[in-house]
Amino acid sequence: MMRLALLLLAGAGMGAAAPERYPVDWAKLEPEILEHFSALLKIDTSNPPGNETRAAQAIEAVLKREGIAAQLFALEPSRANLVARIKGNGSKKPLLILGHTDVVGVQRDRWSVDPFAAVRKNNLIYARGATDDKDHVVAGMMVMLLLKRLHVALDRDIIFVAEAGEEGTTNVGIDYLVSQHWPEIEAEYALAEGGSVVEEGDHVHHVLINVSEKVPRGVRLVARGPSGHGSRPSTQNAVVHLATAIARTGSWQTPVRLNEATRAYFERLAAISPPRDAVRYRAILDPAKAAEVDRYFLEHEPGHYTMVRTSVVPTVMQGGFRSNVIPGQAEGYLDIRALPDEDLPKFYAELRRVIGDPAVEVVPAQNSGRPAAPPSRTDTALFHALEAVSRRMFNAPVIPGMLAGATDSAQLRARGVQCYGFGPLGSGGDGPLGGAHSDNENISVRAVMKLVEFLWNTVLDVAAD
Ligand SMILES: [Zn+2]
Repeated sequence: MMRLALLLLAGAGMGAAAPERYPVDWAKLEPEILEHFSALLKIDTSNPPGNETRAAQAIEAVLKREGIAAQLFALEPSRANLVARIKGNGSKKPLLILGHTDVVGVQRDRWSVDPFAAVRKNNLIYARGATDDKDHVVAGMMVMLLLKRLHVALDRDIIFVAEAGEEGTTNVGIDYLVSQHWPEIEAEYALAEGGSVVEEGDHVHHVLINVSEKVPRGVRLVARGPSGHGSRPSTQNAVVHLATAIARTGSWQTPVRLNEATRAYFERLAAISPPRDAVRYRAILDPAKAAEVDRYFLEHEPGHYTMVRTSVVPTVMQGGFRSNVIPGQAEGYLDIRALPDEDLPKFYAELRRVIGDPAVEVVPAQNSGRPAAPPSRTDTALFHALEAVSRRMFNAPVIPGMLAGATDSAQLRARGVQCYGFGPLGSGGDGPLGGAHSDNENISVRAVMKLVEFLWNTVLDVAAD
């Protein structure tokens, strides 16, 4: 068993800032952290089917060994969520740390290494889940161990949740916890996946903390017409009607609309960008200039293009079964990522107008299960802690952002929890969640270590007595 080496600074006592009172020797701790991380990555929790219970039990064993009680809550026996709590003095409301144990599946033949072997090459660790989201899981687990080992006096409870089913089956994960175990996870704040520490060259440019996220609200397109012989052209051919509808919606530039989170994002980004880029980020805030910048975003900055609108992206087209038969029906799918305050009935009506074809039906897809919620606030103690830690660790500012993807924070924000998405070091080009879901998903050893340290410092800042 590895032991944490404590470096007690002479003279450090009460009154000193929390990081000085509870110093950690990160270099000494690195082998232990990487061992826990590898062990988690080697557990195949591909969802479906998930099998997150194996990961939950592994975490439970590590916590128990050091006297931290954990509970497993499972809607289905193979899909347990883990909840552990370290008590504070109760003068402030709890802080929740989240990490999801399930991962998306892999296409093994597209990987250059075994995706469940945690192969380390040139200080990169390759595995499914390396950046989404077992990095957050190991960070949360390590912070719990350190709080316990260092006997940190807390003025609020710290709750660690390693949840199942984040990748598309939230009924066994966050929805189940929120509806059946709310008292066990209720908190003022949550720290979860979704941000990144954006490097440029050899320095950190800014720390992206997501305070909001878009909501998946896709639709099916169903084109109908008479079936017939492939030798007879028809104006009612369902394949043609579908293709036309897809082409129209795929090139539709939906209106640019900013909200509190994205406005703050561009304002702050402009303040720390080189003049040429800053001009653009200020211009998107100006309705008179936004259209031109928007076209630039579409070509050059797709992450920003989607951030300023409800996006519509055709992803599936299906129709026909024989080369000489006109099918009676053809179907497509539009992946729609709505701004949190989008008026959806109105938006779908506008979509129908753009399609302009009564032969094509717009059918809202089954609810994604991600509720819409207002952005988390940037004037809270936790947000200020994130800013202070970013400054201390990276000498970099925090920029609050809105994630184009969806996470379990959606459910918590909808219950009034102030949620902040943070993440590991990475280049800005990929945007938040870069590398997630890709073949050869990997993370650097340094990024793992800095993620744990960042979480630790933030927790101390906002919760140490
Ligand atoms: Zn994730």
